[in-house]
Amino acid sequence: MDTQLALTLVNTVRVIRRTRGRVRDVLRSPEGLRDWLDQVHERWPMFPTDAVPADTATADRLVEVRQALRALFAHAVAPDPPSAPDAHELPDLDVALATVNQVLREAEVTPHLVWPGDGEPDLHWSVPVDLDERSRAIASLTWVATRFLAGPAREQLRACPAPLCVLYFVKEHHRQQWCSSACGNRARVSRYYYGRRESDTVEEPVS
Ligand SMILES: [Zn+2]
Repeated sequence: MDTQLALTLVNTVRVIRRTRGRVRDVLRSPEGLRDWLDQVHERWPMFPTDAVPADTATADRLVEVRQALRALFAHAVAPDPPSAPDAHELPDLDVALATVNQVLREAEVTPHLVWPGDGEPDLHWSVPVDLDERSRAIASLTWVATRFLAGPAREQLRACPAPLCVLYFVKEHHRQQWCSSACGNRARVSRYYYGRRESDTVEEPVS
């Protein structure tokens, strides 16, 4: 859950392919924010994101946390290049760390170790019951994303290098280069096209 939920949050910065790469921030439109909050709750019902208002206050707070996380994701993939669209305007590492830690501290996120007799140990968390839904949801998302960053899956984190893709993904096998097979295909086509122009050959692609 940690990995997929963390990726779902940082990958709310997208590009629109039909406009050849215009960047879209899902969290910055009320409809996009509503859809995203509902989708998170649908996929992970323990997150009460469906009860969070899709208003400016939620968008502002969530975007602040997400940009801090995107800065930490960029740090995690270095020296490889980060997801490009906002790489030049991300907070510094110290600021990003302070932001996520402040969210966890203010919401009084309390980890506790769970270890079923015949299973693996895991860190669960709780927040005070009187916390409002917005703070509860954002603190929970932050906690999960920080668990991902502090865990072993971080070492497989990559920014997809395909043209017009800005997504972070976690490699599932050693040779995986792209976030999806569609990106792999597009990258190969692009490499062929520009490679042919540079070398000025007239060979046809091998299908
Ligand atoms: Zn991709």
